[in-house]
Amino acid sequence: MTQTPISSVMVHGNSVSFTAGAYIFREGDAGTCAYLVEKGQVLITISKDGENVPVAIIGVGEVFGEMAIIDGLPRSASAFALDDCDLTVISERLMSERFAAADPIVQLVTFQLIKRMRSVNMKFKGHGALANQESVNKPAAVLGDVARKRLKLENDLLRGLAKKEFFLVYQGIFDLKTRDLVGFEALCRWKNPERGLVPPNEFIDVAEQTSVILPLGDWIMEQGFKDLLILQEALGRSDLTMSINVSSRQLNDPDFCNRVETLQNKIQVNPKNVKLEVTERIFQEGEFILPTIKSIGAKGFSFAMDDFGTGYSSLTSLFNMKVATIKVDRSFVSTIIKDVRSKAIVQAVVAMGIELGVDIVAEGIEHEDEALLLTALGCHHGQGYLFAKPKPLDEVLDIFAPKKAAA
Ligand code: C2E
Ligand code: CA
Ligand code: CA
Repeated sequence: MTQTPISSVMVHGNSVSFTAGAYIFREGDAGTCAYLVEKGQVLITISKDGENVPVAIIGVGEVFGEMAIIDGLPRSASAFALDDCDLTVISERLMSERFAAADPIVQLVTFQLIKRMRSVNMKFKGHGALANQESVNKPAAVLGDVARKRLKLENDLLRGLAKKEFFLVYQGIFDLKTRDLVGFEALCRWKNPERGLVPPNEFIDVAEQTSVILPLGDWIMEQGFKDLLILQEALGRSDLTMSINVSSRQLNDPDFCNRVETLQNKIQVNPKNVKLEVTERIFQEGEFILPTIKSIGAKGFSFAMDDFGTGYSSLTSLFNMKVATIKVDRSFVSTIIKDVRSKAIVQAVVAMGIELGVDIVAEGIEHEDEALLLTALGCHHGQGYLFAKPKPLDEVLDIFAPKKAAA
């Protein structure tokens, strides 16, 4: 194989420059990286009967060389610089990581497109079939399986929504000093005839990665609002709150704020009694979600930062978002007795909460000693199996308003 003369390649950081006419890679080379064209043009050729036949010109802003990385086979074409070119190198690791993180269906489609491109190349060269077929088919089969399962789950979720297979359970939130009930958190459950009772950790993520969370989230909110009115009435407590988990996909929906307002008008729930729980994950892609949060806040709803301390913690985001509540994650609460570091973290969060005028709720309290220590640290509210497990509405009414439920 002829090597590109060193003088025609200049490497700087993750960029590389080739002078006009230099080879970038050749057919048969191992694929070690892909390239993004920053300047110049790249010619892609395929050899046929000893000739290099041009098949594509890649311009500024386009990527090439990704095929060999994704399917692990040698380069099926050659690339050389038509002009002096500046290219950004996309390392094999970066490309593979991006590909692995992509939706399984997108992965499968990409993989199949690459497989087809390779077949076209092979036919063009006069070879009937794709060489090393097995190595190409194996990942496609695995990806196909993952994608099929994922598609089925998505379809089942949509069908389950239409067939009313979802229901909500409510877990009480308590004042740690007085042990009085202050509100509830709505938690979603899915009872599917084929799958049984599916825990939210197994379906919420998929619903969030697709648009299923939008109709599902609307249903959760509507049901949560309605049940809050029933609970307030039955317990004779108009001050009770309802916390509803909201995902970033919902907040990213431009119509979300209007739909929340429409629902609130329809059901006539007081927005002061509704807390929308979000996790720090909503800021993973930046803070562009803030205007939606502000609009919803202006309508009287408040926000709680859920699972605090487990994710991408940005105190600036917390400040900008003006959260009313911070929920200290269960991982700190369950270790607070034995691990001094957990205790120190909770202590710091509580101190910050008091300074900022933010309500602190400790999640996942299972033992009395945890509740006592959290109270001593100044934590305002608590939630966990020690006080109440999440239960459907009728059972919650039986527990908290037994006379009314029996009437
Ligand atoms: P989360 O919002 O942090 O909800 C608290 C989870 O901890 C619930 O699990 C609850 O049942 C559980 N839990 C409460 N107290 C205790 C305790 O003392 N000990 C232990 N071991 N666990 C306790 P669940 O219901 O399985 O929900 C898991 C996660 O699924 C939720 O975590 C939330 O992220 C998500 N999720 C649940 N319902 C919804 C929903 O309606 N919408 C959205 N977007 N996400 C939801
Ligand atoms: Ca929550
Ligand atoms: Ca939580």
